[in-house]
Amino acid sequence: MSVVLHHLNICRICLSERNLRNILMFGTTTIKWIEDIKAYYKIELSSHDNKSTKLCIDCMNKVEKWRKIVDKAVSNQTIVEFFAEKLQEEMKRNKDGI
Ligand SMILES: [Zn+2]
Repeated sequence: MSVVLHHLNICRICLSERNLRNILMFGTTTIKWIEDIKAYYKIELSSHDNKSTKLCIDCMNKVEKWRKIVDKAVSNQTIVEFFAEKLQEEMKRNKDGI
């Protein structure tokens, strides 16, 4: 295999040559994957820069795990907001001497 072909068949993150998936072949979810890989790994996948657009399953799993944590953190902000509002009310009540 030529060097040129070879360097397109590695995980873009960890350079593994095993269990690779081409992110650009994911159809409608490709854009979401590109965005999330950029947010998580600070790596931008593009079809125009002659660099691998493949990730191994391990690196993909890390992104999926991270997505779940982000979703949880976002939904937990509802609870954080609730406590912040309660504290605000309590401080206002104390200030007003009620
Ligand atoms: Zn990898």
